[in-house]
Amino acid sequence: MPDIIVQKYGGTSVGDTEKIKNVARRIKKYHDSGQRVVVVVSAMGHTTDELVELANKVNPKPSRREMDMLLSTGEQVSISLLAMALEALEIPAHSFTGAQIKLLTDGKFSNAKIEMIDRTNIDSALSKGKVVIVAGFQGIDRDGNITTLGRGGSDTSAVAIAAVLGAKECEIFTDVDGVYTADPNKVKSAKKHKMITYEEMLELASLGAGVLHGRSVELAKKYDVVLHVRSSFHENTGTLVVSEDKVLEKVIVSGVTVKSDQARVTILDVPDKPGIAAELFSILAGSDVFVDVIVQSSPYKGRNTISFTTPRENVADAKTILEKFAGVHNITSVEVDEKISILSVVGVGMKSHVGIAADMFKALAQNQINIEMISTSEIKISCVIKDEHAQAALHAVHSAFNL
Ligand code: ADP
Ligand code: ASP
Ligand code: MG
Repeated sequence: MPDIIVQKYGGTSVGDTEKIKNVARRIKKYHDSGQRVVVVVSAMGHTTDELVELANKVNPKPSRREMDMLLSTGEQVSISLLAMALEALEIPAHSFTGAQIKLLTDGKFSNAKIEMIDRTNIDSALSKGKVVIVAGFQGIDRDGNITTLGRGGSDTSAVAIAAVLGAKECEIFTDVDGVYTADPNKVKSAKKHKMITYEEMLELASLGAGVLHGRSVELAKKYDVVLHVRSSFHENTGTLVVSEDKVLEKVIVSGVTVKSDQARVTILDVPDKPGIAAELFSILAGSDVFVDVIVQSSPYKGRNTISFTTPRENVADAKTILEKFAGVHNITSVEVDEKISILSVVGVGMKSHVGIAADMFKALAQNQINIEMISTSEIKISCVIKDEHAQAALHAVHSAFNL
């Protein structure tokens, strides 16, 4: 049996009909060389954003079920057009929605997790010599509802399919040449990595490097699928995302990211007693409020201050929860600052090198940028800063590490 190759093409790569024809020509080459090709596609260009806008025009707070029903249509357009473009090149192709390959997810609309994929229909089409084209980003829950995997989720569809089919590699075709030391559209001097570890990529993705969906990296790591992030506009090799033992040259810092659209919530005079933080963060988690950096001050007169960051889109829910919580615990003040960003540096080399935090803080200090919160893990350091300093901070820290 020839190898199965799984490829994913993002929105920009299928942004218009000319680009779709280009993608078809690229797929033809793989098909002609005798490989079995499975392709996952995103919606064309900014289709998903436009669908979100459309929804907001009829209802500012649409239900998540109907939102998923709407957003999943974008991918249905691109899979059928790509299949037609292949047919025009006399390549037999067969498109599938998530439901048609039984890509089963849990019932969490707008952020569903994949539970199972049935490969039967994919295998059957491949055995007839067809190129298989699957709609990214979408699945179906046990009740037959259409679900989506979260914005940028087509990467995760592709990796999950690669894992199920036993493909060793999953190619992620996008509009940049690979994974860079910073977003190349923001930092012109950013450099492309030849290789990067799953751990670093996972941190970078969750800290704002939108080039890969975080969960796709988690799955790739778990099922040992090598990710090859590369440009859909030329043939050059991109960046391989692999396990740590495959990366020979370990760098200390592999990337700098900025996550904007964040807010900080500060709760003053929280009673200093066991169980209070557990209670607060359990309620927030129960309402799907995402929490990132958390800082608690030392107690003073039996009270302390707890601050945490959350995506701006979660602020309204967080406020409702906290007002109730404040009432129950006699808390006088809850403050929200919606103008913050999280700046992070990531690198596996941090495990064995000291002084990275000092260098990062120095770069910020030299640019008069105040650090409002700090959080660290084995391979990353994050600082909460004012939104208005985000670009300057990104450049300052990127050049401080000579990336
Ligand atoms: P696609 O539609 O192909 O999924 P995305 O827009 O989701 O593409 O991801 C590609 C974008 O990720 C790039 O255009 C780039 O601006 C952004 N990006 C952010 N951080 C990085 C990084 N460290 N390396 C490469 N690209 C990055
Ligand atoms: N089309 C979806 C989005 O824009 C999924 C994706 O592109 O990966 O988020
Ligand atoms: Mg993407």
